[in-house]
Order: sequence, then C-alpha cells, then structure tokens
Amino acid sequence: MIIKYREKPIKIAGYEALLKRISPTHPKRAAIKNSLNNARAGFAGEERLDEALDFFDPPYAYQLIQDFSLPAPYKIQVDTVLITQSCVILLEVKNITGKLQFKQNPSALYSILADGEIKSYKSPVTQMNETAIRMGKFLKTLGCNLPISSLIVIAHPSQIVQDAPSNARILAVGELNFYLSNLHMPKPILSTDELYQLGHAFLAAHQNYQPFPLAPKFQIEPSEIEGGVFCPRCHFGKMTTTKVAWECEMCRLISKDAHIHTLYEWFMLIKPTINTAECRDFIGLKNLDTAKRFLLNNNCQPVGGRKYRKYMQQSFHK
Ligand SMILES: [Zn+2]
Repeated sequence: MIIKYREKPIKIAGYEALLKRISPTHPKRAAIKNSLNNARAGFAGEERLDEALDFFDPPYAYQLIQDFSLPAPYKIQVDTVLITQSCVILLEVKNITGKLQFKQNPSALYSILADGEIKSYKSPVTQMNETAIRMGKFLKTLGCNLPISSLIVIAHPSQIVQDAPSNARILAVGELNFYLSNLHMPKPILSTDELYQLGHAFLAAHQNYQPFPLAPKFQIEPSEIEGGVFCPRCHFGKMTTTKVAWECEMCRLISKDAHIHTLYEWFMLIKPTINTAECRDFIGLKNLDTAKRFLLNNNCQPVGGRKYRKYMQQSFHK
C-alpha cells in the first residue's frame, strides 16, 4: 500500500515568487527560469511515475513512499521507495526531452535536442548508486539488512535511450507496473509485521527537503527584491490597504489575508527570520505594532532578546 503521497514541490512556488519580485531585466532571471522549468519538468515526470503505479497490485506485500528524503548526514532524495519483505527498490524518474545518451569515463547523461543542442546532466546511474549506498547506511541504523536495488524510469514513453550501462535497469514509465508486478522476489527476510514497522520507521525519519531561502542561492541581495503585497487573483497587481482589507490596484480584488502570502514569500526568498521593521517595510504595514501583531497572529515565534528580537516561522523549520 501507499503510505505517503507526493505533494507539489514548494520550490516551484519559490522560483515563481522570485521571478515576480525581481526586475524584468535582472541578470539572474534566465538562471531562475531554468531552475523553475527543471522543477516543473521534474514534478511532471514524478506525476507520470505515480500514475503508472495507480493500478499497482503485485502478488507481494509492500509499502510505497512517494518522495522520500532524509536530511544530513544521509542527504537522500528518492522519487519513490518500494519496500518489500525481500528488498528495497529505489525509483528515480527522468523527464528530459531529446534523445538520451549515456556517457562513460566519466559518467554523464547527454540529451540531444532536435536542433542539435546538447545538454549534459549528472548520470542518474551514478546518482542512484550513491543513493543506494546512503540508503544502506540508513537501513543499518534501523537494524535492517534488506538488499537495495535501483530503477531508472524514463517519463517519455517513446524516448530513445542510447548506450545505457549494462549494470543499470532503465524502464519506460509504461512498462513499470508490469515489470514490478512480475518481479521474482527472493525469499522474504522480514515478516509482514516487520515490513509495516519498517515503513513506519521510514516515515518517522522522513523530512521534507527544505530549499529556502532562494535569493542567496542565486546571489541576489534582499535590496533587489521588490516588496509589497501582490494580488492572489491577477498575480501582477499590487495591493494597497484600505481600512479593513487589501485591494488590488489592477483587478480590484478585495482580500483580507493576501499579505499572509507575502510573509511566506519573505521566508521563501530572503531569510528564515524577520524583525518587525523588515516586516513593516516588506509588506507595507502601517507601523511596528501592526507588524508585531501580524507576526504573532501568523504562526511566527519570537526569538532573541527584546532589543534584537526576530521572528521565525514555525512550519518552515520543523
Ligand atoms: Zn489583481
């Protein structure tokens, strides 16, 4: 059974917010757009992987985790983990356009586009070998010695893949269900109860990958990021406060809580803390008292002494 479902990666909203808040001519715009496109393509591939296993009903007991990650020291991110009584299978989906070609010595993956452009990526085989070693270390801490294997799944059903290393298992997304359902399972190592316990241990250890704040990753200064409340309906209009709510200058939407999202965007883009002056200026609140009340009412925890007090958002820093 599936014990954890995938959610849309939060970094997609982060890249979108960053693009919205930097100038149209900013030199980092192309790099951010590229990251956004990769994140969107990655998520689309992961959704195809999930769809391919919609009717997964193999003749063995299993626990399936979509989007599993462990923080340091393991630093693991796996698209899907399939745990059975006999083994752990790691699934990594690749959603890259063009003809794919594996290179050796050193390993890399090239995508060759129709116009002849070649893009180079880290070899997913190398990536999965490394992940399997880390996963082995993690399993050991759970007192578990299940063997680990990896599968690379190609999201485009008719993609040409050349020179795949003979020691790697690479499948088109459409053949995944059949392949996994007909897998010859070695003799079980775990009882079904132990399998379910192992699934729970994975969930207990899982921590969502936290990509924020994004601006420092692109060497963008806070001063280059435009403040203010953007409209949640038309996305481009700026909102101004009326006595009781926020109103969009462009589409005239009235919203009581559009500024809460602006606070999230501060944490996504700039830094994990905010003080009352920064909050007042970034959102465009009347004064420090309003900013303080707003922060306390919106799940922010005060840290530090009275003079240098800052606020942290709880849900971002579990
Ligand atoms: Zn609007």
